[in-house]
Amino acid sequence: APSLCAPLPVLGRDVTVPLVTGGEVAYAALDYAASAPALQRVWDDVAAYAPCYGSVHRGAGYLSQLSTDLFENARRTVAAFLDCRDTDQVVFTRSTTDSLNLLAAALPDGCEVFVFETEHHASLLPWRNARVTCLDAPSSPRQAVDTLERALADRTASVHGGHGPALVCVTGASNVTGELWPVRELAAAAHAHGARIVLDAAQLAPHHPVSVRDLDVDWVAFSGHKLYAPFGSGVLAGRADWLREAEPYLAGGGASRRVTRRADGGLDVEWHDGAARHEAGSPNVIGAHAVASACKALTEAGFDTLVAREEHLIRTVREGLADVPEVRFLSLFGDDAPRVGVLSFVVEGWNSSHFAAALSAEYGIGVRDGLFCAHPLVRRLLGGDPRSQGECGAPEAAPGEKSLNAVRVSFGAGTPDEHVERFVRAVK
Ligand code: PMP
Repeated sequence: APSLCAPLPVLGRDVTVPLVTGGEVAYAALDYAASAPALQRVWDDVAAYAPCYGSVHRGAGYLSQLSTDLFENARRTVAAFLDCRDTDQVVFTRSTTDSLNLLAAALPDGCEVFVFETEHHASLLPWRNARVTCLDAPSSPRQAVDTLERALADRTASVHGGHGPALVCVTGASNVTGELWPVRELAAAAHAHGARIVLDAAQLAPHHPVSVRDLDVDWVAFSGHKLYAPFGSGVLAGRADWLREAEPYLAGGGASRRVTRRADGGLDVEWHDGAARHEAGSPNVIGAHAVASACKALTEAGFDTLVAREEHLIRTVREGLADVPEVRFLSLFGDDAPRVGVLSFVVEGWNSSHFAAALSAEYGIGVRDGLFCAHPLVRRLLGGDPRSQGECGAPEAAPGEKSLNAVRVSFGAGTPDEHVERFVRAVK
C-alpha cells in the first residue's frame, strides 16, 4: 500500500479568520472542488517567470522568444500529463467552461450530443446549438453504460438517420458526490456506436491520473484553478480534426496566418490549423506556465500517494460522522462507491446555507452550500424532481421538510488532517 504523504505546501496556510465566538483560527479551506489553493511550488515557478514578461508569438525580442518557449513547453508538459496521442492538440483556454464551449462551437453540422442530467452545467449547457439528448441519472456505473448504449443504439436504429456525427460529454468525477464515472466503458460504448466522447476532467484531473490513450477519450477538458494553479487558465486537449475544420472560436491576431484585402474591398483570411486557431489574442502565458508547473508537481508527488491520502481523509469524515444520524450524504452509486475527496450532505433540521455559514463563523471552516451548478442532479439527490423548475436558492427548510440545497466539503493534496478533524468535530 502506498504510504500516506504529507500535505503538499499550498498558499493560504497562514491565513487566520475571526470567529464569532471570539479569537482567531487558521482558516480551513475545505472547498477544493470550487477552487484549490495554488501549490507553493506553482506560485514560486510563476514568480520566477515574472521578471521575464513578454508576449507569446510576437516577434524576435528575447523576452518574447522566452515566453513563446515557455508557452509551447507548457503545451508539451500538459500533453504528457494527459498521456495524449501524438496527433492530439492541446489548446489553452480560460477554464473547463471555456474549453467545452470551444468544443461546442467546433461541432460538425448536424452533430447530436448526449449528456447525463447529472453533469455540471459547464458540460450540460454549451451544446445549445446541437440536438441534445439528456439521459436520466443512473444508479450504478453499469447502468450509466447501459443507458448510454441504449440511447446510442436507438439513434443508429432511427429511420430518421442517426449516422451523422455524435458526441458524448461526461464527467470523470462528480462535483457533487465525488463519485468516479466509468469513463473507459462509456468511451468504448460511444465509439462502438460511431460517436465521440469528451471527458470533463475538472474534478478528476486534480485527484487521479488521466490518460487520454488509456481511457480512449477523444477530448479532455480541465481548469487550472482546480488543479492547484491560479485562476484564468484551462485546457482542451484531444483530436485535431474537428478543431481544425471549425471556424476559430475567437477571431483575431494569433489565430490568423494571413489577412489580405480583396479587390471588392472585403477581407480574405487564412486561419492557422493548429492550436493557435482557437487561441486568438495575447495568450495567458503565465496561466499556461502555472498549469504546466502544477502538472509536474502532481506527477512528481505521485498520484498513488495523493489518492491514498485523500482516501484517508474521506474515511476520517465518513467514520467520524457515522454516528450522527442527522447527516445524510448524497450519492448515486452508493456511499462506498469510489470517489475523489468531494462529499455533499444535508443535515436534518438544518438549512444548508445556515449550516455552511455556521461552520465558517464559528469554526473558520470554508465549505460550499447550494446546488453546485448541477441543479438537476442535486434536485434528484434531494428527493425532488429533476425535471421540475423548483427553487435554486436556499429557502428555509422547516423541520421535517426536505432540504432544497446541500453542503459540500472537499479537499485535496494540500489538506492537513487537522482541517478535516475540525470539520468532523464542528458538524458533530
Ligand atoms: N465541470 C465540473 C465537474 C466542475 O466541477 C466545474 C467547476 N465547478 C466545471 C466543470 C467548470 O469549471 P470552471 O468553472 O473552471 O469553468
